[in-house]
Amino acid sequence: MAESTVRIGLVLPDVMGTYGDGGNALVLRQRLRMRGIDAEIVEITLADAVPETLDIYTLGGAEDSAQRLATRHLQRYPGLQRAAAKGVPVLAICAAIQVLGNWYETSAGERVDGVGLFDVTTAPQRVRSIGEVATTPLLAGLSRPLTGFENHRGGTTLGADATGLGRVTKGVGNGVGDGLEGVVQGSVIGTYMHGPALARNPELADHLLTRALGGRELEPLDLPEVERLRRERLRA
Ligand code: GLN
Repeated sequence: MAESTVRIGLVLPDVMGTYGDGGNALVLRQRLRMRGIDAEIVEITLADAVPETLDIYTLGGAEDSAQRLATRHLQRYPGLQRAAAKGVPVLAICAAIQVLGNWYETSAGERVDGVGLFDVTTAPQRVRSIGEVATTPLLAGLSRPLTGFENHRGGTTLGADATGLGRVTKGVGNGVGDGLEGVVQGSVIGTYMHGPALARNPELADHLLTRALGGRELEPLDLPEVERLRRERLRA
């Protein structure tokens, strides 16, 4: 392995990874490799301690019981929290927003303490939000609409230290009436978008990669199939 290999942590794919969210790690690796940068995916399962030394991390969505196992594991092995404190980028999908928050309530009404990387709380809403979601990004550096597929019952309320990733133009998003989708806090970004999110939103992928590379400018990478998918999904 070369010294400069970018190491992408796919966190707990054995319990968190609905709708192919693990594909986000593949997209990150591929976009680096296509630019001639060495990259590898490090899978961190429930059998492993969470290392704090990787260059970027991603976590997928999950059902309530799996989500709880993941929460306990991340609290026991706080490598992700240590990495985030150093400014290492983290992408959290759907249930992972909830897990990384202050607390979340399951559909059965049980309150579970989260990891505390996001100043957010999540409680089940009356109706489940399912379908296409699109937003106008609020994160500096992003200019193109974000799109994905949402399926969650939890509604996420942002506290003072967290901001929204986008303003909803279609679908529900965080689901508490503030018109926001996703969460940004320091180097940690969360979204309810499955898809996988980074396959559908290459600008977000490159934003995360630039951070992972310490701010290094990446050469543009325009892939016609990605553009086709974006246009098709924006019409959906
Ligand atoms: N269990 C969570 C909810 O329904 C997250 C679901 C998901 O990740 N798709 O809100």
